[in-house]
Amino acid sequence: MSLELNENAQTILLAFSFVFGSMVGSFLNVCVHRLPLGLSVVKPRSRCPKCEKPIAWYDNIPMLSWLILGAKCRNCDEPISWQYPLVEAITGTLFLLVYWRFGLTPATPVYMIYCAAMVVVTFVDLTDWTIPNEITYPGVPIGIGLSVVAMVYPGTGLQLDNPLEAIAAAFGAGGFLYMLDKASLLFLGKRGMGFGDVKLIAMVGAFFGLWGAVITIIVASFVGSAVGIPMMIADRRKEGANEGPYLPFGPYLCVGSIIAMFFGPDIVALYTGYLLMPGAL
Ligand SMILES: [Zn+2]
Repeated sequence: MSLELNENAQTILLAFSFVFGSMVGSFLNVCVHRLPLGLSVVKPRSRCPKCEKPIAWYDNIPMLSWLILGAKCRNCDEPISWQYPLVEAITGTLFLLVYWRFGLTPATPVYMIYCAAMVVVTFVDLTDWTIPNEITYPGVPIGIGLSVVAMVYPGTGLQLDNPLEAIAAAFGAGGFLYMLDKASLLFLGKRGMGFGDVKLIAMVGAFFGLWGAVITIIVASFVGSAVGIPMMIADRRKEGANEGPYLPFGPYLCVGSIIAMFFGPDIVALYTGYLLMPGAL
């Protein structure tokens, strides 16, 4: 279903994907800020949190405005967090990679939206320590619905075309993390992860199936321990509370699921190829 394009058109579409993604990222910044507060993400227009002056369109150009303004509000000199251009750059890069990987197929817009959702989940979890239900609740049925679409229309480029697997993976992966959380509470006396993570992995299962969920959890655990344990040690030194520091697991699940989105089938093919190799088992 992927069309053949000449090299120039391809370059233009890649550049367009990046610019478009960074503009979407600009909107995602608003979502990251407002969703945890229960505010509308469409209105009012963005304004400076300090002086409340609405931000003009020319001061709202992804990444560039932040650089040109020297990371300060034009009106009151309030510093503007580097989180804003970071979210824009990450979203732009993800959109570019999605187009590069999935080309002119229906999977491209779907996975761009998926990446946008993961960017919001990541930054809300990092800053507010919650995972927005506004994303995970619709995410599960949308993932299952897409698997029906992919089953009916072959060649969409979507990874999962089996609705039964989508449902099984949503409940299976969600149930697995739920039990892990309960077991952690029972044996270690502290919560492993929150219920938000359970809903998030259910969404991942609905989008990418059983293998997608497995790859996501494995990648998340590796990245989580590589990044999280040093952070936890650094945190413990300055913290007296016996609650212990909160370690968001959501961002790692997001990273894991994006790896599964890009490379899931390749990883599974490599793995099964390895199992089929003479002498592997
Ligand atoms: Zn201001």
